[in-house]
Formats: sequence, structure tokens, C-alpha cells
Amino acid sequence: MSVITGLAGLRAKQQEQAEKEAARNRPKAEYFNWKDNSKATNPDQILVQFVQELDASATGYIEEHGLAVAAVEHEAPGPKGYLARALCTLDSEGQCYACERRKADYQEGWKTKTNLYINALVDYNGKGEPVTRVISRNFNQSFAQQLMDEAVENGTITDKVYKITRHGSGTQTVWVLSPTSKPVFKVAEPEVFDLKETVLRDISYDRQPDYFGRVWDGPEGEAAAAAPAGRAAATSSEDVEW
Ligand SMILES: [Zn+2]
Repeated sequence: MSVITGLAGLRAKQQEQAEKEAARNRPKAEYFNWKDNSKATNPDQILVQFVQELDASATGYIEEHGLAVAAVEHEAPGPKGYLARALCTLDSEGQCYACERRKADYQEGWKTKTNLYINALVDYNGKGEPVTRVISRNFNQSFAQQLMDEAVENGTITDKVYKITRHGSGTQTVWVLSPTSKPVFKVAEPEVFDLKETVLRDISYDRQPDYFGRVWDGPEGEAAAAAPAGRAAATSSEDVEW
């Protein structure tokens, strides 16, 4: 729509532009990536030190650092699907576009996936120059369980250096977490990415077709056809508020 008339339409346009601007300026997290460890003696092994706990009752809990999170998320189907990842809104809003698509045709994709996110200092290539990265891992993988076991047994996961070893490849990849007796990293005030601000995407139901539609054309471009309906719904709620 290149010509807009009416206050409701103008106001919607204004809001849309403000949101686009906010999305552009959104701070971004840096994620842990095994590729960045390729120069290590053993590229499948890395030393990390967590800077977030799993629970506020942990002895090492620092409020400003916040807690690790597990998030129920969807990704758009297809090779570019990972570019559109968002929280499942079935519980928070009572409706979720991705869940609806999944129900309509489970073969299309859209499966919910629970992901664990935690900030950690990561010593890439064993250089002794740790940097903060967000480690993300499928919550159903053993890594999450090992982390929880550590937290329960020791009352903290931030007081020591851990070794993560990667075994296998593809979907069979397993990460093994083991504590080490190495001296803790000397980083006075480590950077901590705000997971809510930089990692999690909470997209409201009426904007979800647009959001996922950016990277997913749908069966016969169905998502593109559904997108204007999402916008119309948003505009009509604007009308009510106006
Ligand atoms: Zn959902």
C-alpha cells in the first residue's frame, strides 16, 4: 500500500515504521560456534566458564547477570527457517500461528523445540582470551541434563571452568560437560547478553504470519496470502484503540 489515508491507517503506518526501526537497532547476541574453535589442538573440545546460573537460589547467582533460560520456540520451515525463530505463544496468548500450521499439516514442519540459552565465557582455540558467547542447545539433549545435575550437586555452575567435548556429527552430536580443576578465567566484569532482549523473539499472534513469511513462502505461497490478513487484523485493533 503506497498511499495511506485516514488517521487509523496513518497511525498504523507510523507504528509499523517505529517497530522496524526498533528491530534494526535491537542489540544482538553473539552465539557460541564450534567453527570459531577450529584452530584449537582439539577443535571438538573447549573450556568454558558459565556466567549465569540456572536458579536464583544458586550460591553464585548475580542478579544483574540474570538466569539461563529454556524457551519453547518455533522456526519457519525450509533452509532459511532458522532466520525466523520465535517463542511459541500458545500459553502466553492462547493462540500461535506456528502451532496452527503444525496442526493443519504436521509434515510442513513448525515443530516446537525447547532451547536452552546460557551466557558463558568461552576460550576459543585455547588462547586464554575468553569472550562471552550465548551457548544454545536443544533442551532435550543430554547437555542440559548434565548442566542441571551439576547445579544440583554443587549448588552453583559459575565457580569453575568446564570442558565441553563434542562427539559425533549432525543430529547425532553429543556434548559432554565435565568440570576441570583449571584456574577460573580472570575476567573482572564479563559481558552478559540480555537473553530476553537479544535472543528471545516474542512476536504477537497477529504479526506471526508476516514474521515467519519473511523466510517462508508457504505451500504455493500461502503465507504471503495470509500475511495481509494479519496486517488487517492489526489495523482493526488499532481502530478499536483509536
Ligand atoms: Zn506454538
